[in-house]
Amino acid sequence: MVTNKSRCSYCGRVLHKQVSEKYFVCSLKCKSLIKNTEYIISVDSIVFDLNNYKWNKVEDLSQKAQINKFDFISSVRRLIYFQEKLRAKDIKEINQKSLISKVKK
Ligand SMILES: [Zn+2]
Repeated sequence: MVTNKSRCSYCGRVLHKQVSEKYFVCSLKCKSLIKNTEYIISVDSIVFDLNNYKWNKVEDLSQKAQINKFDFISSVRRLIYFQEKLRAKDIKEINQKSLISKVKK
């Protein structure tokens, strides 16, 4: 995974304050979640597979998966900001209303 020092490695939000010396994370919650590599890989795979090349709203996709909302949108941000496998329709920060799609290869 690409590390991006301006964003939390777990939730992908802009990092205003770092809470760990070892990880780039925004909160103690993200600090504990970032250690769960297998969970992250499996969630990223599920979230990526729910997407296609048309625009879908994050909250609509989220309803199709048994993943809590925070973990789901965190995965969306990782797939957009770090892995560049998904893209957003506009340049605002990703939220539940954002329209996202797979990146065309
Ligand atoms: Zn975070």
